[in-house]
Amino acid sequence: MSDGQYTLIGKPASGIHHPAPGMSTLSVHAGEARQKPGDAITDAIFCASTFTFPDTRAVIEFIEQKQPREEYGRYGHPGMRVVEGKLAALEGAERAVLFSSGMAAFAGLLLAKLNSGDEIVLFDECYHRSREFCLKHLSRFGIQTRQVKTGDFDALERSLTARTRLMVSEVPTNPHLSVIDLERFARLGRDRGIETLVDATLATPCNLRPLDWGIDYVLHSATKYLGGHNDLLAGCLAGSSEKLESVQNLRGIMGSVSASHCCYLLARGLKTLELRMQRHNANGLAVAQFLASHARVEHVAYPGLPDHKDYANSRRYLRGGGGLITFCLRDAGWQETARVVDAVHVARIAPSLGGVESLIEQPMVMSYFQASPAERSAWGIRDNMIRLSCGIEDAHDLIADLAQALEAR
Ligand code: PLP
Repeated sequence: MSDGQYTLIGKPASGIHHPAPGMSTLSVHAGEARQKPGDAITDAIFCASTFTFPDTRAVIEFIEQKQPREEYGRYGHPGMRVVEGKLAALEGAERAVLFSSGMAAFAGLLLAKLNSGDEIVLFDECYHRSREFCLKHLSRFGIQTRQVKTGDFDALERSLTARTRLMVSEVPTNPHLSVIDLERFARLGRDRGIETLVDATLATPCNLRPLDWGIDYVLHSATKYLGGHNDLLAGCLAGSSEKLESVQNLRGIMGSVSASHCCYLLARGLKTLELRMQRHNANGLAVAQFLASHARVEHVAYPGLPDHKDYANSRRYLRGGGGLITFCLRDAGWQETARVVDAVHVARIAPSLGGVESLIEQPMVMSYFQASPAERSAWGIRDNMIRLSCGIEDAHDLIADLAQALEAR
């Protein structure tokens, strides 16, 4: 967990039994130097696009890798190393690679790993921009994408060929909250020599650590729970150093790095990750239970409810259901559903999720308004569907507000 100049949390006194640090200890301290510039307790924000060398000898020592240090901002900067240290520690990974957004992380991995003629398979509930990147853009470079129904392992096996290089799933999925059998996914990849990627944005390492189940890469839109305050864009990949080496090198060429100020906000947000997730999990469950008992609600998708279609997988793999809930109104068209969304006062209407502020949206309007009814139906996006990202407000306020909004006709 220590990588040269950036130490973890100081050395334990010798002879004292030192249990593995918990999530919050890691969030607060991992990746940080014990003594920082200016003796400040917080890390500095370095507004530098380049880093100086005292003399030519230092340049050569750096080139010969004798001296790990910063060089040029496109390859990274001290604030980025701090965040990467925290994320690697939280995921139990050898390495984390930080990007300017979740999509930059996804695209960065695929561009680094795939060649013309390769194939990838995605479960069809993966984030729609991830699927769009594969279908519209990777196809231009001779990389074929197959999509199979989420959780359908027979279809997944049938779709694999000798050219398949990567299998991709989200856990839980957005907005349907499906939870696949992760161990089976990892085993299938291992048996067939195919790498596996899990986008665990909705879970965070507090609720799920995919690498522990044998997955090769975990991806996060750090824009969501990891940052947690709806004030930054970032993404990350975690996995083995060997597998991520080429991804990190390509990032240095593309320049899809996260800037210093953003890294500071992310490091700060990460310090309260576990505390926030405890609240998101509790609010998600309380609000989902309320919605499930409401006469106007036809269906609630939430991994923590016993009638969730993947409840057995949720119980096995997740340590909490998270803050995201998707529910459908009974006998309501899209306009009537919109009137309920508009009547909500506490949650704000916006895309995104995972921040301290609750956000609400109607997926049919927010993300799929220009899609055809046939496309929406194929993606399971219903006119009467509402997606609610429960923030950290008080559950009783969220519930009282939803109760009054559900009166709207
Ligand atoms: N993965 C999931 C599950 C998402 O919901 C999103 C964004 O909504 C992304 C990835 C992409 O992340 P970003 O917006 O940080 O590029």
